[in-house]
Amino acid sequence: MIRPIASTRQFNLASRASALSIAFLLISSCRGEHQARAGKFDGESAIRYAKVQLDFGPRIPGTQGSQRAGDWLIQQMKLRADTVIVQEWVHATVDGKQLPMRNIIARFKPHATEHILYVTHWDTRPVSDAADNPADKKIPVPGADDGAAGVGLFVALGDALKKTPPASGVDLLFVDGEDYGAFDEKLADVLIGSTYFAQHPVDPGYKPIFGVLWDMIGQKNLIIKKEAISVQEAPEIVARVWQTAKDLGHDDVFVASDQGGITDDHVPLIKAGMRVIDVIDFDYAYHHKPTDTIDKISAESLSIVGEVAEALLR
Ligand SMILES: [Zn+2]
Repeated sequence: MIRPIASTRQFNLASRASALSIAFLLISSCRGEHQARAGKFDGESAIRYAKVQLDFGPRIPGTQGSQRAGDWLIQQMKLRADTVIVQEWVHATVDGKQLPMRNIIARFKPHATEHILYVTHWDTRPVSDAADNPADKKIPVPGADDGAAGVGLFVALGDALKKTPPASGVDLLFVDGEDYGAFDEKLADVLIGSTYFAQHPVDPGYKPIFGVLWDMIGQKNLIIKKEAISVQEAPEIVARVWQTAKDLGHDDVFVASDQGGITDDHVPLIKAGMRVIDVIDFDYAYHHKPTDTIDKISAESLSIVGEVAEALLR
């Protein structure tokens, strides 16, 4: 997936951001104790679910691994969510392939007036473009951090939300086809599922109060910096997420520094008018390599991110 944008535009948001920080600090100091009690996210479960995804093999659109992993995911989310919507369509690639696609949307409190949208991609990349050995470049990426980590996070979040339903509506969107093609100027065969969802939302006029894309959030020694497109397009959501992490004592992972803009699934959603940010640790040594395997991700990292993800819904 994804390609860092060479030059990123930074805005000076200091005054607005600090005002927001104070506002969130006041809110969260009243809620802190309640959040701690409500927290039920289990990082050990999350990594177990990630492992199940990896056991299906690469989740490349059109393959048996994708079919089985998607079927499992639908079945799992039906056990947890109030409603599961499956969007199915065929994507025609630039080289003429017909790819079956599935977006899976697990809805909690779908009839609530306010919704929070969480996004992750469940497909994996067909080629290891970044492999160190040229002969390995044709090997599919196993997709532990780049795929399974986000899925594991969401299934475990589903456990927590089933136990303690959220205050507002929550939609967990698993997008397909994020990582299929080339991240060049055309972006023809990438971000396929998020682009489809942006054009076919679950309800007419669907407008979540905010959204977060969780991508590559499972690696050991996780350090998440603020992504430039998110800071530019939805600074108040970045402030909310980072403040929540700080309140939980996770400001050593959600650090107060910046990273460049990353072409990822938040971009089509932002273009469609949704306020969505990208939470991602793009500094990953095994990105798009055959070594993106289960041993590179940890229950501890998933536990920290899951705790933040859950607290944002409480
Ligand atoms: Zn990728």
